[in-house]
Amino acid sequence: MNVIFGIGSKKVGSYLDIKGKMGQRKPQSYDYFIVLDFEATCQKNIQLVPQEIIEFPALKVNSTTYEVETKFHQFVKPVVHPQLTDFCKELTTITQAEVDNASEFSKVMGDFRAWINSEMQGKSFIYVTCGDWDMETMLPAQCRLSGEEVPDHCKSWVNIKKSYRNYTKHFARGLIEMLEGLGIGHTGTLHRGLDDCINILNILRGLADRGVQFSPSNKCIQARLS
Ligand code: AMP
Ligand code: MG
Repeated sequence: MNVIFGIGSKKVGSYLDIKGKMGQRKPQSYDYFIVLDFEATCQKNIQLVPQEIIEFPALKVNSTTYEVETKFHQFVKPVVHPQLTDFCKELTTITQAEVDNASEFSKVMGDFRAWINSEMQGKSFIYVTCGDWDMETMLPAQCRLSGEEVPDHCKSWVNIKKSYRNYTKHFARGLIEMLEGLGIGHTGTLHRGLDDCINILNILRGLADRGVQFSPSNKCIQARLS
């Protein structure tokens, strides 16, 4: 097993440190979690149409050890708005050169399908995202734009915000609030896709440590995506 990340989990103190019972991991229904977090073109205070994916990261996480075994990571070249706005570069820290030197979405999606097929042969897995935007909105929109089919395995995911709300009874607006709630320090740069994935994983692990079992959280929208 090639473990590529040490997952930081500095305690910062929170109500869950007191309330949550640690060391309560239960078996999960899947062999692996694929933690995924897209970054996309954007503009301040304006809805960019269409938004296009510019960073495509995914972590293959063993559901017993919660270690990252391998990762997929590529930048993506946007075609409708090829020049990143200053706002987007500042928000994501992604540079113009990184997207200029990247492949367009169809090639990246093909590479991702191949990665999933080779890594997940004979294994069960489910995606984990922060919110529903990545899989409900961004991926289908980008696939439509690029003439790609949404793979069936991308139509089911765990929205970690819903898992967090079900466990804590608190609605968290984003990653930072959930990390604080679980007493976990933030790792890396916010809105950098790969770093966001690592923080989502730390939340997943924090909830698993408190006995949470994960199931698809998008049942109500699955029919529409099929
Ligand atoms: P996130 O996963 O939270 O980093 O956000 C994913 C994408 O949503 C970003 O790459 C942006 O395209 C968009 N986004 C996030 N936050 C903002 C914001 N404050 N203003 C405009 N777009 C945003
Ligand atoms: Mg992100």
